[in-house]
Amino acid sequence: MRLSIKIFISISICAIVSILIITSLIIDQNHQMNINRENRRCIQELEIILNTIINNIKYTDDDFEEFEDIIKNYISYYKKDETDFIILKNDQKIYETIENMPINNILLKADSKNYITKIENINEKEYILVCSTLNNEYKIIYIRDITQIYNMKNEMQRYGLILIACSTFILLIISYIISKSITKPLNEIKKRMININDEETNTKLEETNDDFGQLSKAFNNMKQEVKDRNDELLRLVQSKQMFIDNLSHEMNTPLTTIQGYAELLEKIDCTEEQKMKFLQYIQEETKRIKEMYKKLLLISYKKNEDLQIQEEDFEKIVEEIKRQLQQKLLDTKIILVVNNDLKKLNCDKTLIQIAISNLISNAVNVSKEGDRIILNAYENETQNIIEIVDEGCGISEENISKIVEPFYRVDKARSRKLGGAGLGLTMCTNIIKMHNGVLKIESKLGEGSTFRIILEK
Ligand code: ADP
Repeated sequence: MRLSIKIFISISICAIVSILIITSLIIDQNHQMNINRENRRCIQELEIILNTIINNIKYTDDDFEEFEDIIKNYISYYKKDETDFIILKNDQKIYETIENMPINNILLKADSKNYITKIENINEKEYILVCSTLNNEYKIIYIRDITQIYNMKNEMQRYGLILIACSTFILLIISYIISKSITKPLNEIKKRMININDEETNTKLEETNDDFGQLSKAFNNMKQEVKDRNDELLRLVQSKQMFIDNLSHEMNTPLTTIQGYAELLEKIDCTEEQKMKFLQYIQEETKRIKEMYKKLLLISYKKNEDLQIQEEDFEKIVEEIKRQLQQKLLDTKIILVVNNDLKKLNCDKTLIQIAISNLISNAVNVSKEGDRIILNAYENETQNIIEIVDEGCGISEENISKIVEPFYRVDKARSRKLGGAGLGLTMCTNIIKMHNGVLKIESKLGEGSTFRIILEK
């Protein structure tokens, strides 16, 4: 059942039941007050009559034979349209102004101090009966017709019903409007939920200060989160697909080359010199695949547990890197300047060495003969910083964010010639990330670049 209908029914039921109870309470209270008033009046009147009779009996002195006649006379005198009397002698009727009025035993318990009252329904008429004693023998029951009070109650009940019907109608309309207005923001949220991917209907919900505003805010946040995650997922799927496409392409080229030269070696009669050349090509391509495999392995490392982090002598790491790159630097006539203020570094020695060598090797690739590459290593209070600064071709702003993506190369032909598959920087970024660090790149086209490794202490 819809929430608006539930609210509508609940409000309607509560309101109608309340009106019913209140109306019937008011009517009953009013009726009871009228009965009480009549009761008091009857008692007062009976009291006056009794006093008058008693006084007059005294006046007539001891003539007891006339006693009953005197009482009857008084009673006849006081009898009116709406009042009647019954005289009892030793609880037996001796005189009555109304016929067939039953006398309940309760009434007979009356004495000179207590007036007993009883209400009786006779022939669809309501009577109030008040009984008191005149002396030990005689009792007088005062009877008043109060049907009019009951008629009034019935009349009020009729009016009450009309009132309830009218107010119920008005209440139904009000509760309908209230239920609609309460559930309107909820319906809006529901609509947006159903069409969560529909951009047109999915503008932000208004964030008011009430509970629904909070709900709208939570919904807006959730929607943004879902959208961000969707985008992220899409990006991941796309980049994964791109990675696979690039990988198969990169693998295909050297494998085709190897296959080609192997077939040549098998099929044609070639000279010793040709054979050596073909074998050299095969070796080069195999080396390329092996390099790619090593880098891919380092890219696929994801957790710090894969590392062997310990305090290392950074001086030794630099020496090792210099030794590795010595031949390349000599061949290209590029100078590596080292400014090292770092004594110790907490790291996985092998991996950090690979990352730094790769960055220097990249710098060599983009530098000209005689250029300088500077390796700065220093620390501040919280970080160890290693910078590789070159005077090479630099990188355009557009490419800075892309070069860390796998298989991305700025100058494809040149990069390929140098044996790169565009995996070096991706690998470096991953190694640094595993050390809880970041790689920052500053560069200007034609003015060289700075690759800065920042590792938290
Ligand atoms: P590769 O392994 O093919 O060298 P990298 O991921 O290391 O690939 O580098 C990606 C691209 O970034 C390279 O094609 C190169 O053009 C560019 N690059 C890397 N280092 C530098 C640098 N120091 N200066 C200018 N461009 C660079």
